Amino acid sequence: NVPKAINEQVKSYAPASKEREQVIAAFKEMYNSSTIDVPNYIGAEEVRTGKTQNITPPFNHKKVVGTYHEAEKQHIEQAISTALDARKNWAALNWEHRTAIFLKAADLIAGPYRAKINAATMIGQAKTVHQAEIDSACELIDFLRFNAEFMQQIYSEQPISSEGIWNRLEYRPLEGFVYAITPFNFTAIAGNLPAAPALMGNVVVWKPSASQVYSAQVIMEVFKLAGLPAGVINMVHGDPVMISDVLISSPDFAGLHFTGSTHVFKDLWAKIGQNINKYKTYPRIVGETGGKDFVLAHPTAIPAQVATALSRGAFEFQGQKCSAASRAYIPKSIWPQVKDLLIKDIESFKMGSPEDMGNFVSAVIHEGSFDKLAKYIDAAKSAKDAEIIVGGGYDKSVGWFIEPTVIETTNPHYETMETELFGPVLTVYVYDDAKWTETLELIDGTSPYALTGAIFSGDRYAIEEATKALENCAGNFYINDKPTGAVVGQQPFGGARASGTNDKAGSILNLYRWVSPRTIKETF
Ligand code: GLU
Repeated sequence: NVPKAINEQVKSYAPASKEREQVIAAFKEMYNSSTIDVPNYIGAEEVRTGKTQNITPPFNHKKVVGTYHEAEKQHIEQAISTALDARKNWAALNWEHRTAIFLKAADLIAGPYRAKINAATMIGQAKTVHQAEIDSACELIDFLRFNAEFMQQIYSEQPISSEGIWNRLEYRPLEGFVYAITPFNFTAIAGNLPAAPALMGNVVVWKPSASQVYSAQVIMEVFKLAGLPAGVINMVHGDPVMISDVLISSPDFAGLHFTGSTHVFKDLWAKIGQNINKYKTYPRIVGETGGKDFVLAHPTAIPAQVATALSRGAFEFQGQKCSAASRAYIPKSIWPQVKDLLIKDIESFKMGSPEDMGNFVSAVIHEGSFDKLAKYIDAAKSAKDAEIIVGGGYDKSVGWFIEPTVIETTNPHYETMETELFGPVLTVYVYDDAKWTETLELIDGTSPYALTGAIFSGDRYAIEEATKALENCAGNFYINDKPTGAVVGQQPFGGARASGTNDKAGSILNLYRWVSPRTIKETF
């Protein structure tokens, strides 16, 4: 049996603690060295093409901390053939050996690499130390350890046999390679998307987000140190359209493990459709995409609880979570109290560089995101049916800083109630207490997404009604809690509709997608 997985404990980084000293030291060393040079990893080779892009921290975008190398078409082709070569031995390797590698990787992150991966996430993705700890340490460790347990459960699931007949299921990897595309917002997702298929015996070509190459490199370093054979996971950077075109038009393309935007996922799906006759096998398509996640309060909700859920759910991680609370429906009767508490809480947030550990929020990821958010904030300033009640400021002179902003609207279909912004902007619609049922319908009909949602109420009948009425609106539904912060093994994560294929990261359901079982019936 694999060791029983338990969730990694989140460290506090209290002043004068050892972990705080270590992460500060790692941060300083990386931030000031300017020697980071992230290659493409193709088999045992670190490929530096010389076609480089700068890595700049979002909270100080004039500073260049390093570079990464973009691959050309021939490198992507090389990554495919290297992966397929590695597949021969990797797919045949006993599962215990594959498991040992990823469990060792988890231990390395939990121990000697914790400060480094957290510092890389703080610098590259502008996360505070607490955000980095939850993401790049704890969640990544959890994915690696829990996946081992899920895999064992899958392998042990066998059909019924009878006298003279032995039926068995053989859980083989997919025939070909898996393409992993990962987002900037979670180092844990970046690690899990290639690691989960690889654990199940697959080989992978992995394209991390251009805004996350720094912590991606640390992940590769850890996998290598843990003994992952060359070629099992290959990491490439560069033009995403070119990379996808080469990988998806390969006859050996066998699966896509994706987290990112809805429109990119749909484009890839269409491309896969166009190439369908080329493939040896139908590719597995697993994607987690956008969200427009709601918080609904019933008149029986406790205002302080609702306010905290909104401020934490919408603004932690700079609102750059697929699960972030971004539209709220609050009844008129409790709104004045919720509003006061919410504004007070937000006004206490300190914003700035993650190096100052007193900061609660930092910058958004890049200029594109900054400009988009600033545009919606400006529109709200002059809108007739919306008003900014807190925040509304932005400043890009040093970093991509957007103030945590709350828009109150009288129009339930106001643009920011419907459009995913992926940043620290929350829109609140105040509904008439008598219109509870209509509000449930409104939530269902307002957004194409269905990732997360939350209901706050002290009335069990109202909770039941909302749970039923909103059953298709959220793959993760929270009762009296914020709609973020799913924990591996505890709240399997993912949504349907425009939010993804709902293959639940952090659960056994995801790992099932990376095997192609063979049923064997033997008669004696
Ligand atoms: N799993 C994270 C949460 O529950 C969100 C991941 C994402 O943003 O994709 O908050």
